[in-house]
Amino acid sequence: MENINRALVLAPHPDDGEFGCGGTLRKLALAGVSLHYAVFSACKKSVPTDLPDDILFTELEKAAGILGIPAENLHKTDYPVRELPAYRQEILEKLVQIRQAIQPDLVFIPNSHDVHQDHQTLHQEGIRAFKHTRILGYELPWNNITATHNFHVRLEKEHIDAKIAAVNAYASQSFRNYKDEDFLFGLAKVRGVQVNTEYAEAFECIRWIL
Ligand SMILES: [Zn+2]
Repeated sequence: MENINRALVLAPHPDDGEFGCGGTLRKLALAGVSLHYAVFSACKKSVPTDLPDDILFTELEKAAGILGIPAENLHKTDYPVRELPAYRQEILEKLVQIRQAIQPDLVFIPNSHDVHQDHQTLHQEGIRAFKHTRILGYELPWNNITATHNFHVRLEKEHIDAKIAAVNAYASQSFRNYKDEDFLFGLAKVRGVQVNTEYAEAFECIRWIL
């Protein structure tokens, strides 16, 4: 990781980055890498009606803090959930602004197999904006019919613990089955076995530069 000083996560919605690469983010933070997290919807239409409609942005700050991302490194924009394809050009322009402001060495985006329309938008615009940068595609298995796992990050239990704590910061989403601790540990173990280590996260290598 010698040449990685600044990493950026592109998350269509709050919590995508924690699920997709939370363990890796914790590992990078502990190694002194400056982390930025850009999110593009507060998903107000999906929040239970008895909660504040921007609760996911509040929970994002807690989750990011657990992983080691300071609040000033959160880049929040609120487009309507499930409608990001309609804002493709605005999102691209925002990504170019972020690129110019922070010049990341590594960018995490949804992988190319993700079927969610908002995730596809961030995948495509992420590649457009950061084509000269290292890019890894993170996995959200419930959105994949097929997937590519050709890049793994070895992790320790403390990284997975931090990932689970960050995911649990989204109390408003506790009904989702993929928040289950056994599932998150199990996935990290599966990815670890693939590269003969205890825990890992797997990515699609979209661009790598040495
Ligand atoms: Zn999402």
